Amino acid sequence: MLKFSDRVLSMEESATLAMSRKSRELKSQGLDIISLSLGEPDFHTPDFIKEAAVEAMEQNFTTYTPVPGYDDLRQAIVDKFKRDNGLDYEKDQIVVSTGAKQSIANLMMSLVNPGDEVLIPAPYWVSYIEIVKVAGGIPVIIESSIDTDFKVNGAAIKAKITDKTKAIIFSSPCNPTGSVYSEEELKDIAKAFADRKNIVIISDEIYEHINFVGGHTSIGTIKEVYDQTVTINGLSKAWAMTGWRIGYIGAPKAIAAACNKVQGQFTSGANSIAQRASIAALKKDPSYLSEMLGAFKNRRTLVLNALRGMEGVEVNEPEGAFYFFPDVSSFFGKSHDGKVIKDANDLSLYLLEEALVAVVTGDAFGDPNCIRISYATDEATLTKAMNRIETALQKLK
Ligand code: PMP
Ligand code: GLU
Repeated sequence: MLKFSDRVLSMEESATLAMSRKSRELKSQGLDIISLSLGEPDFHTPDFIKEAAVEAMEQNFTTYTPVPGYDDLRQAIVDKFKRDNGLDYEKDQIVVSTGAKQSIANLMMSLVNPGDEVLIPAPYWVSYIEIVKVAGGIPVIIESSIDTDFKVNGAAIKAKITDKTKAIIFSSPCNPTGSVYSEEELKDIAKAFADRKNIVIISDEIYEHINFVGGHTSIGTIKEVYDQTVTINGLSKAWAMTGWRIGYIGAPKAIAAACNKVQGQFTSGANSIAQRASIAALKKDPSYLSEMLGAFKNRRTLVLNALRGMEGVEVNEPEGAFYFFPDVSSFFGKSHDGKVIKDANDLSLYLLEEALVAVVTGDAFGDPNCIRISYATDEATLTKAMNRIETALQKLK
């Protein structure tokens, strides 16, 4: 019998993608499933971006691309980093990839040797852990809780640093908690690395534009850590371009060169047409996104009020991204119709079967007391989903 590699056998399937597959299957069987499982904007890619893609095809941008991305796309990214983040990069510090997910994979393949440790504050995005493991690394989790708005501080990070620590990776705004680190908090985190120049800080800023508090700070702007920081971003979330698969990094030159080498062997340069379209998006003033942000803000208020009104649900107020990460542990040990809810896995399956609403277990994000709810869908659907969830939770005794 075929024996698969230990690498793939020890890898978990992406819980976000698994839940969205499950809800698609149930929908195709005719069930009226509301999917709040996937972090994907329900908006369409703006027309001016689609037009740039059509133009690219007409101009025959259909061949292999330079591995780190078209020169003018990398220039547009340099300009974007300066305009939006106050970050100074040169073109050879930029590598464009097939989604930010590939940027993360390139980085871990470039940096991590078997046995190296990578710090990951929890709750974390599902794929960080698995990508670190595939690279042979050991994920070292830094716990947080709803009481600190799911954030960690410099002291907690410092306590986990060892001689084997190679990198830290975190997102702000955070998937799954929506927490946003302030400049002060990032300075405190940066201090933990001031005398550890060999540790790479990987800052995933893909939700940068979906921020309700206003200011987004990139940790790379703190000059003591600029030369050990990699800034990750991408087009998927802000520009509703999840299917186009474009992400990118700004990094110290040597790290960018290593990612370029890895990518050259694994996938080559990212899709030519999507790259041309991304230039149009990145050149646009981000104020273009204010309508989308307004819609997310209203949805956030709607879901926050609904969750706060549900007995047994504890929730923080997310400042960015488009997720809620409520603590539902008060339902553990309760049951309905003989179904006992032991943990968040059981609760998310119960909500799928009883409320026909798909959410993702917090287990996959490093907090087994929580579930993740994506609110990237319209208000009428969200209202219906919240009512269904409340009714199902009330049945648990
Ligand atoms: N980082 C975070 C925190 C995410 O939520 C996602 C979700 N897609 C990604 C990276 C990867 O994005 P993509 O590959 O679509 O650019
Ligand atoms: N990042 C999104 C999420 O967390 C998309 C799914 C994925 O890429 O895993 O739902």
